[in-house]
Amino acid sequence: MFGYYRAKHTKAWYEDLNSGINYVGSDSLLNEVLTFFDDSLDYCHYDFEGDSYADAINIVYVGTPKAWAKGLWPHAGHVGQVKDSILLVRYEMTNLASTFSLGTFVHESGHMIFGWPDLYYFGDYCAMGSGTANSPKAPVSPNDFFRADQGWIPLNDVSSTIFSAETTNSSNGYIFKNPSNSDEGYFWSYVKGGWKRWSYLSGSMGLLVFHYNLAEQGNSSPEHLRLRVIEADGGNELLASMVPEPGHAYDLFNEYTQSTLINPLWYDNTESGLRITQIGNPAGTITFTMEGPGSSSSSTTISSSSGTTMILKNEAMGASNFDHRSERFDLLGRNNQQRQD
Ligand SMILES: [Zn+2]
Repeated sequence: MFGYYRAKHTKAWYEDLNSGINYVGSDSLLNEVLTFFDDSLDYCHYDFEGDSYADAINIVYVGTPKAWAKGLWPHAGHVGQVKDSILLVRYEMTNLASTFSLGTFVHESGHMIFGWPDLYYFGDYCAMGSGTANSPKAPVSPNDFFRADQGWIPLNDVSSTIFSAETTNSSNGYIFKNPSNSDEGYFWSYVKGGWKRWSYLSGSMGLLVFHYNLAEQGNSSPEHLRLRVIEADGGNELLASMVPEPGHAYDLFNEYTQSTLINPLWYDNTESGLRITQIGNPAGTITFTMEGPGSSSSSTTISSSSGTTMILKNEAMGASNFDHRSERFDLLGRNNQQRQD
């Protein structure tokens, strides 16, 4: 962190600059800030990787933003200026209201640092959804798909699994890829609502399942979703609103919702062959069984299974489920030029 700057003009001046169209006002303030600090700091100190890039700059201003997607509305964007031979790449701007809260800061930093999109039609299962607005003082974590993509939690590629009985804690991701479309797959993890960064989702624990489609840039409409929550009750409540708040009781797969995921379709309407069943009591860990399309006798096998004792792992899974994890999955690229609210 590096000090504060008193702007040349009133907040209203920046909000209304260029008739308040787009982010002209915030661009003006950004330039003022960078120029001011250029006299007193050496931007080289912020190039930790020695690549002549300062990747990210957080700017927090005092006040309440006036209108969405213009003026000083919180956002992340491109800087593209060279100072002290360092290219300043990205910035985000967040407002500080009557008290400081992390929510918007985390959300905009998600845009700025990782290029994560806004997750509309998604609910509060992520800092990029409505998870920061609803719990600004203790914002919900980025979702596990994004976390696994960064290598923060292990990612288990179970695409070639025939049958496996699993016991997992809340720090594992599972991915089942479409063999015919590298952009598409299912992903799930154990979300322990009420704990740590999931404290806002109190009382909701179970498997949270996503259908991803990386051909989509973001969640712009119910028909174009990069990351869709598969609701455990089979409903589509989350698709009814850009910022849905239907509650969570029936979205997570667990013993109490008695939910199973049976052969969900790919986007071309072919069958995935994925089955997630026998989902247990969500506690410190959760158990479930999963089957892929290669299993000819899977239906009869699963009916005689009793939880975790019966394990018929595919050879590809090996002795350790985690052999197939990647350090950094990196499906989600970042566009440095992109401006995001
Ligand atoms: Zn956003």
